[in-house]
Amino acid sequence: MSKVYGAYLCTGCGIGDVLDVDGLKSAASESGIEMQEHACLCGAEGRALIEKEVNDNGVNSVVVCACSPRVMQNEFDFGEGVMTTRGNLREHVAWTAAAAETEEGEEAAETEGVDEFLQEMGEDYVRMAVTRAQKSELPEPYQLETISKDILVMGGGIAGLTAAKEASRAGYQVTLVEKAEVLGGKALGWRKMFPTSYPYTDLEAPSIEQMVNDVTGDANITVKTTCEVARIGGAPGQFSVTLKAAGIDSEWDAPAKVTVDEQEKIDKGELEDPNAGMKVYTELNPDADMFGAIVCATGWTPADASEYEHLGYGTVNNVVTNAEFEKLAKTGKVPARVAFIQSPGGAEHDKDFPYTNSVTSLVTLKQARYVRDDNPDGQAYILYQHMRAPGNTELFYKGMQEEDGVFMTKAAVTKVEEGSDGLAVQAADTLLGEDLTINVDMVVLAAGMVPTTVNEPTINLSYRQGPGFLDLDLFDGYADSNFICFPYETRRTGVYTCGGVRKAETMEETIDDATGATLKAIQCIESANRGVSVHPRSGDMTYPDFFMSRCTQCKRCTEECPFGALDDDEKGTPLPNPTRCRRCGTCMGACPERIINFSDYNVDMIGSMVKAIEVPDDDEDKLRVAVFVCENDAYPAIDMSGMHRNKMNRLVRFIPVRCLGSVNMVWIKDAMSAGMDGALLLGCKYGDDYQCHFVKGSEIANKRMDNIGETLGTLGLEPERCAVRQIAISDYDKIPGIIEEFVEEVIEMGPNPFKGF
Ligand code: SF4
Ligand code: SF4
Repeated sequence: MSKVYGAYLCTGCGIGDVLDVDGLKSAASESGIEMQEHACLCGAEGRALIEKEVNDNGVNSVVVCACSPRVMQNEFDFGEGVMTTRGNLREHVAWTAAAAETEEGEEAAETEGVDEFLQEMGEDYVRMAVTRAQKSELPEPYQLETISKDILVMGGGIAGLTAAKEASRAGYQVTLVEKAEVLGGKALGWRKMFPTSYPYTDLEAPSIEQMVNDVTGDANITVKTTCEVARIGGAPGQFSVTLKAAGIDSEWDAPAKVTVDEQEKIDKGELEDPNAGMKVYTELNPDADMFGAIVCATGWTPADASEYEHLGYGTVNNVVTNAEFEKLAKTGKVPARVAFIQSPGGAEHDKDFPYTNSVTSLVTLKQARYVRDDNPDGQAYILYQHMRAPGNTELFYKGMQEEDGVFMTKAAVTKVEEGSDGLAVQAADTLLGEDLTINVDMVVLAAGMVPTTVNEPTINLSYRQGPGFLDLDLFDGYADSNFICFPYETRRTGVYTCGGVRKAETMEETIDDATGATLKAIQCIESANRGVSVHPRSGDMTYPDFFMSRCTQCKRCTEECPFGALDDDEKGTPLPNPTRCRRCGTCMGACPERIINFSDYNVDMIGSMVKAIEVPDDDEDKLRVAVFVCENDAYPAIDMSGMHRNKMNRLVRFIPVRCLGSVNMVWIKDAMSAGMDGALLLGCKYGDDYQCHFVKGSEIANKRMDNIGETLGTLGLEPERCAVRQIAISDYDKIPGIIEEFVEEVIEMGPNPFKGF
């Protein structure tokens, strides 16, 4: 595309009050683009000014230096074929001026003339915006030659049935695969369901048969029972799925896992290939069925409770799990005296059984009801550490509390054994403060619901990074990629989970969940059809472009991609799958050859923006710190800090990045060799409660920064000049302090000794 530039400066919202407008315009023209000013660029008149130039002069690369790129997006959208680049002079500059203090600690009045530090800040942001526009190209969507819009649903329980029905209602063709002989899943074995309507006290008859009938009678849905997924290859829009009869081994079964080190040895002939003779991931079955997206609703399995020896499961008769008790209740009368144990007790009193939550509490209440319904004098004892009854189920809980013959107490069970009158359950730390022994006919353990991803492959992807979902240990085996922001989404684009495989859920929750996952699957298919990214960069038309002739087959990109978007060939050359790609840029940050780039986000562009920052080389009061800021959390937090008119250190320059994982260390080297005195990365929290939208971008960046610190050390620079700080989006009032602290550390170290060379 031949680019015609137009640059526009807004002097409204306080920008013109604290900055020298002519100075800002000069900064643009020195960078190669003349800039016009307007008092309210987002208003009808300001927008008309730009539109006129688009229409009359063919301007197709618009630079708007005004407010944050996170606001006024529609106002500065000039249609297809016109690219808009934003420079943030409002939240990041002008609005940090109001509370700024002079060196003497006095408040500086907004209109008391232009602060030279603030002005330098503003001019740097103008230069960076112009540079960004000059280094960006209008993106063109990645279009698949052929696309399937059909949806594969794995699992025929409540979640799978709902997903199939919802997809059909939205007009999509569905294949529903269930490994059992009949549809319905575990709900077929339920005697009753939880209350779902007012007064929320009465159990309801199961509705699973109706759900099964709805699906089997739906012309859009093909049902395949006693059938399993053997292998999934391809990508959203073109998933190639091989099915097989349930329980039968297949040549398409998952290959053995091979580590990178092992693969190196196999390549050298030092280790036997465990997958020799098997089809590997670069081969696809030509007879496979094609699907656009996959809903994984493979459910859960009951947890094993035998590890708690003091509870007697597996050794003492009539100690059963809740799942086993439900089967008993479905087929006959339950005993008259039953103890329901909610928590294993023992040494760690406060802990519940693994994989339990409110659902297991509600199951206990339901099963206590069976005891009362089947026996006029029935006695149900509920011994718990935690009972959870969220929302309207609180009414069910309260109803059961008032029920004659139902006893609930907080207690730590210390022993279950056979006694002279049935089973003797001993418990300590009860609400009454006394130890107690209860004689019952049966003990029911509230065993958890283990997602199938923990014990079975569930999906069997022919991907370079392996057949399953990655890093399930981050989520106790649940297949989610971000439990806060993106439910249903796994780390395998186009595969969405719902129901018990995602978390322990009630039937109502499962139906909502499956509907949500189905909508995600549809969104994925339609995004692939339009050639744009799915969440979290929904609608992004860019994708990573690899300059393969300079690839050294180092495999860093294929190993670090959080979403398994890159396969590779036998030599290690990346084989991109753009519809799997979430456009995070982690591969770009990883590539030592710097050959991975996006049309509007690339190594040269950010490097050039860093170099566009003017670094005074003879003024110790004007040190410079480049701050690379994650667009997801840190950038909006800085915007909000500006909206709160918080003071911000004026030596820093913010550079937005898609994710800290996309930060290529050459940018840090560029900053330091340009004479900047420090470089800071601001990204999401990592670890157990990580918040990274791209799973582990900030964690990867932290490791890379450690390495670059070592490199700086060998050059005689303090490694502490480069650092990473973790920021949550809610940290907007803390950010100025975090930055101030880092700048103070840099000031303490003094100017970069290579400044000016
Ligand atoms: S941009 Fe992100 S998701 Fe796409 S290939 Fe690179 S690392 Fe993978
Ligand atoms: S990181 Fe770069 S050089 Fe290494 S395999 Fe990927 S594209 Fe090739």
